[in-house]
Amino acid sequence: MCRLSEWAGKINIAGELRTEEPLSLHTTFRVGGPADLYARPKHEQDVAELLRFAAEHDIPHFVLGGGSNILVSDLGIRGLVIDTTGLRHCAASDTTLNVGTGLPISEASAFAAEAGLGGLDFIYSMPGSVGGAVWMNARCYDSEIYDVLSSVTLIEPGGRRVVYTPRPEDFGYKRSPFMERPGVMTSVSFALHRASRDDLWHRMREHEADRRSKGHFAAPCAGSVFKNNRSFGRPSGAIIDGLGLRGLQRGGARVSDLHANIIVNTGTATATDIRAVIEHVHREVKRRLGHELEREVLYVGQWAEDRP
Ligand SMILES: Cc1cc2nc3c(=O)[nH]c(=O)nc-3n(C[C@H](O)[C@H](O)[C@H](O)COP(=O)(O)OP(=O)(O)OC[C@H]3O[C@@H](n4cnc5c(N)ncnc54)[C@H](O)[C@@H]3O)c2cc1C
Repeated sequence: MCRLSEWAGKINIAGELRTEEPLSLHTTFRVGGPADLYARPKHEQDVAELLRFAAEHDIPHFVLGGGSNILVSDLGIRGLVIDTTGLRHCAASDTTLNVGTGLPISEASAFAAEAGLGGLDFIYSMPGSVGGAVWMNARCYDSEIYDVLSSVTLIEPGGRRVVYTPRPEDFGYKRSPFMERPGVMTSVSFALHRASRDDLWHRMREHEADRRSKGHFAAPCAGSVFKNNRSFGRPSGAIIDGLGLRGLQRGGARVSDLHANIIVNTGTATATDIRAVIEHVHREVKRRLGHELEREVLYVGQWAEDRP
């Protein structure tokens, strides 16, 4: 603790800096223990400063977006958590949209629609940040982020700034090169096209209504827990449902009654409860059908379950 306050005292950034920040405040599951050191920088140079500091003092770091695709352990995260949600600039020039990675992707979509720019309408109302959507190559309604991605600015560990131009071979189904490339994405440019504002909003409201009808916003969750695998013949939700696992509950975590590939926090769940449900479902699908479901939600932090 003494060391943490010492570190915090040495960092000079614009933005927020705290010790022992509860990560349950920053995840859509609403669970997760404390971050030793939590920083929410405002500008790109603050990100570089944090990464330089972490490298110099050998402090591990984790990059947090909207916290909508992660399960943070009850024990929390050791080292530094860099929360990107303070990086929120957004500007359109002709058909290019340049956005800070901490802006909610849905806000970027709305901003584009207001500017009469189409291409991001598919992702309206999906939770999470621009950076998280790029990291995951988020997809829905037959489109994915790669389709409109033009360039990404990344601060590498140590503080070097690089601009990356996407290449088709680096992206795939819920796969991006940033999964193997450490660093913090700070801004992203999207190549969009002119479109009618009214048509865009019409489609965006349809997507939002569809998500609502599937229970996406009914309880704290992280969206789909498992990826779909075409070779299994059915979406993961249908597979899980087919085995009668809808409604399965451990502690405060439950397979959603509205969509079997979503696990919800009914109000009192711990991260351990949620992980127990995820692993039960995974085991049952393997045991009864032989399918190895691939988890989409990431386990983050220090897990008692993983100790030898
Ligand atoms: C109700 C609901 C519905 C959802 N629907 C969909 C859907 O339709 N399609 C879909 O693909 N996903 C969906 N998701 C999952 C999730 O919203 C997406 O994967 C989203 O893109 C994650 O973004 P995030 O900012 O929350 O990332 P986080 O969960 O914060 O982080 C995810 C990963 O990205 C990394 N990361 C985040 N930002 C940066 C950055 N700036 N630089 C470097 N690394 C970074 C993190 O380190 C982490 O490894 C849904 C989730 C919910 C809760």
